[in-house]
Amino acid sequence: MLSPLLQNLIQALRVLPGVGPKSAQRMAFYLLQRNVDGGKQLSEVLADALENIGQCQQCHTLTEADLCGICSNPRRDQSVLCVVGSPADLLAIEQSGSYQGLYFQLTGHLSPIDGIGPEEIGIDALMELVARKPVEEVILANNPTVEGEATAYYIANLLAEQSIKLTRIAHGIPMGGELEYVDGGTLTHAFNGRQQFK
Ligand SMILES: [Zn+2]
Repeated sequence: MLSPLLQNLIQALRVLPGVGPKSAQRMAFYLLQRNVDGGKQLSEVLADALENIGQCQQCHTLTEADLCGICSNPRRDQSVLCVVGSPADLLAIEQSGSYQGLYFQLTGHLSPIDGIGPEEIGIDALMELVARKPVEEVILANNPTVEGEATAYYIANLLAEQSIKLTRIAHGIPMGGELEYVDGGTLTHAFNGRQQFK
């Protein structure tokens, strides 16, 4: 029989995605029996992060400062704004090293069925930022899912009236991939987005 405190710990660990009862148990036993110091450090860092990390006032990505490192960097190209759906997507683009402009991070994608509308994901704030900054190009880098596409179309509609270049990242064959293993939807995108061979 588990003690009440141990039961609480196991239950609390299950807040993490992909952690079921067995994994939570294993984590709790590991921390208590084999890595008490690591556990203490985890609890301190976790409390600190949850207390102090919020949204960047400009791009809405996670940061403990008013403005994140990208928004406050004067060397970033202020005329290009890339719209992403999550901090993980922003990080992936950033790590590719291929983009030097600014970002705007939506909180997920539109999903009317779940009651998630434009305001909930930050489209109002995006429009306000576009109006305030000397943005010449908006790059839509929403995921190529049904919700991601719907979100991209919604933003494109709002920006259609403005003299801003609107682009969508290309979707297609992964580098090193083989055509025969690529699904039909991706192949269609790849064909529609074909470019002059240089
Ligand atoms: Zn920012």
